[in-house]
Amino acid sequence: MDNTADVQRQIARLSRQIARTLAKAEEYKKKVATTARALQVRCAKCEEFSPLFTWTFIQGRYYVEPTGCTGGDYWLNSEMNVCHLRCPACGYYNYLYLREVLVKFIKNTKVPLQELFDAKIVTEDRP
Ligand SMILES: [Zn+2]
Repeated sequence: MDNTADVQRQIARLSRQIARTLAKAEEYKKKVATTARALQVRCAKCEEFSPLFTWTFIQGRYYVEPTGCTGGDYWLNSEMNVCHLRCPACGYYNYLYLREVLVKFIKNTKVPLQELFDAKIVTEDRP
């Protein structure tokens, strides 16, 4: 017995469910970002608390020299624990090195840094 029509209907129904589930997942990801952006972070200098989304994330890049005959030069982004957060209240560059809990939080949200902070700036340390 030909069940082509039944199978096609089931696949169409399942495809609609997948689309709805993916849309729901996107909605939850946005909620995670919104929730994470509200985290109050204290400045090490002025001691003001400000929500994460008002801070500027500053990441360094460093130059790696060419090696041997075939290894070309390139740039690498610094690890997060050596990046800085610029305080929105006083402008002080808070080093992330001693703030393990905050670094873990930022990584665990899996929210892109551009969405988490007011801005993400990359600075280059020229040789
Ligand atoms: Zn400050």
